[in-house]
Amino acid sequence: IDEKFDAIVIGAGMAGNAAAYTMASRGLKVLQLERGEYPGSKNVQGGILYADMLEKIIPNFREEAPLERHLVEQRFWMMTDRSHTALQYRSDDFNEEKPNRYTIIRSQFDRWFSREAQSKGAIVISETTVTELVSDAYGKVIGVLTDRRGGTIFADVVVIAEGVNGLLGTRAGLREAPKAEHVALAVKEMHFLPRETIESRFNLVGDEGVVIEAAGTISKGMTGMGFVYTNKESVSVGLGCLVSDFAGASETPYGLLEAFKSHPSIKPLLEGSEVKEYAAHLIPEGGYKAIPELVGDGWVVVGDAAQLNNAIHREGSNLAMTSGRLAAEAIFQVKSRREPMTKQNLSLYKKYLEESFVMKDLKKYKDMPELLHTQAKNYFLAYPALLSNAMENYLRVDGTPKIEKEKASVRAFVKERKWTGLFGDAVRLARAWR
Ligand code: FAD
Repeated sequence: IDEKFDAIVIGAGMAGNAAAYTMASRGLKVLQLERGEYPGSKNVQGGILYADMLEKIIPNFREEAPLERHLVEQRFWMMTDRSHTALQYRSDDFNEEKPNRYTIIRSQFDRWFSREAQSKGAIVISETTVTELVSDAYGKVIGVLTDRRGGTIFADVVVIAEGVNGLLGTRAGLREAPKAEHVALAVKEMHFLPRETIESRFNLVGDEGVVIEAAGTISKGMTGMGFVYTNKESVSVGLGCLVSDFAGASETPYGLLEAFKSHPSIKPLLEGSEVKEYAAHLIPEGGYKAIPELVGDGWVVVGDAAQLNNAIHREGSNLAMTSGRLAAEAIFQVKSRREPMTKQNLSLYKKYLEESFVMKDLKKYKDMPELLHTQAKNYFLAYPALLSNAMENYLRVDGTPKIEKEKASVRAFVKERKWTGLFGDAVRLARAWR
C-alpha cells in the first residue's frame, strides 16, 4: 500500500471498530488491520453489550446489529460446592423500547461492526498481523510493518487497539507487558439448547435474557468469577481467575470450568446441551493503577490494550468502545486544527477519558484489584462457606431455638476471622469500594 493514511487502527475488536467507525464517518482516511480471518474471529466475550456506549457511535444500531437477548434479570450467586446464596434482581422496566443491555456473540457482532466502519469508508484488511510500529529518528510513530510483503505503511497516527495480549506496544517500549496479577485467564463454552428450553429453564419470554454471575469456592481460593449468559439458542458458560493465582496453584482453568458446570445449581441449566465452542482469553483486571501511558508522539492506545476494563462490574466492551470513540474524536480535533499528532496534542484523548465514566469508574475502584488479590482466601473461600452455613442453619427447622441458631452463626464467623478480622475486612472493603 503506497498511500499515506490519516490513521491506522491495529485490531478490529470493540475499541478498534469504534475508533475506525468514528474517524471514517468524520471523513478521515482510515486503514484498519486485523490479524484474524475476519473481524471477531478471534474475539471472546461472555458477553454483555452495553447499548448506551454503542448508541453514541451508531444511534440506530438496534435495527441491524446481531443482538441475542435483552437482559431483564441479573443473579449474583455466592457459591459453595453444594449451595448458592443469591441476590437477584428482575424488573419489567428492562422490557423497554430501547433496552439497555444485550447478550451478543462477538464473532457475529464484530463482523457487523466492522462492516459498518467499512460503509463509512474505512479500509479493513483481515488476516494481516501488524508486526512492528515504525518510528522516525525522533521516536515519533509514523507507520507500521505487517506480515504481508511490502514496506512501511505510513499514517499520521496509529491507534493501538490490539487487545490485552497484544505485543506491539510492549515490543515498541510504549508500555510494560501486563503483570500476571493484573490479568485473568477466562475459559468459556457455548452450550446449544432449543430456544424454548432456554426460555422455560430461565423463566424468560421472547427475547428476554438473564445473566448469572457467581463467585465463591468455585475459584478454590483464587480471585475469580464464573458466569452464565443466555443467548437466543445457546448459553455461554465460563470462569476466569487471575493468571498469578493459577501460576501458584494445582488447579487448571478447564478443571475449574468442569467443576462449575457440574455444580448442582448449574448442571440442570445445561442438561442436554450440545457444546460447540470452547475458547480461552485474557481479561485485564489491574484497574486504574495498571493503566499505562495512553498517548505518545504519533500513537494512542485504547481498550483492553490500555487495561481499560472495570472488573468489579464486569464491564470491558463499553470502556473499549468509549475509549476508541474518544481517541477518534481527539484525533479528528487535532487533524481539523491542522496540527501535528504529537503527544501533547493527542493528550486531548486523555482529557476526554478523564471526563468520562471510564476514568471516573476506574479511579473509584482503584484499590479493589489489590484487595481482592491479597484477601482472596477470605472473600472467595471463608465468607461464602460461612454465609452458606448460616443460611442453612437459619432455614433448617430442627427444634433448635432461633436464638441459639443465631448465636451459633455469629460464633462461626468469629471463630474463623476473630472480631478484629471481621472488622478489618469490612473496613477494607468499604474503603476500597468508596
Ligand atoms: P479485543 O476485542 O481483544 O480486540 C483486539 C483485536 O486486535 C483482536 O481482533 C485481535 O485479533 C487484534 N489484534 C491483536 N494484535 C494484532 C496485531 N498485531 N495485528 C492485527 N490485529 C491484531 N466485556 C463486556 O463488556 N461484557 C462482558 O460480558 C464481557 N465478558 C467477557 C467474558 C470473557 C470470557 C472475556 C475474555 C472478556 C469479556 N469482556 C466483557 C471483556 C471484553 O471482551 C473486552 O473488554 C473487549 O473485547 C475489549 O475490546 P478491544 O477492542 O480492546 O480488544
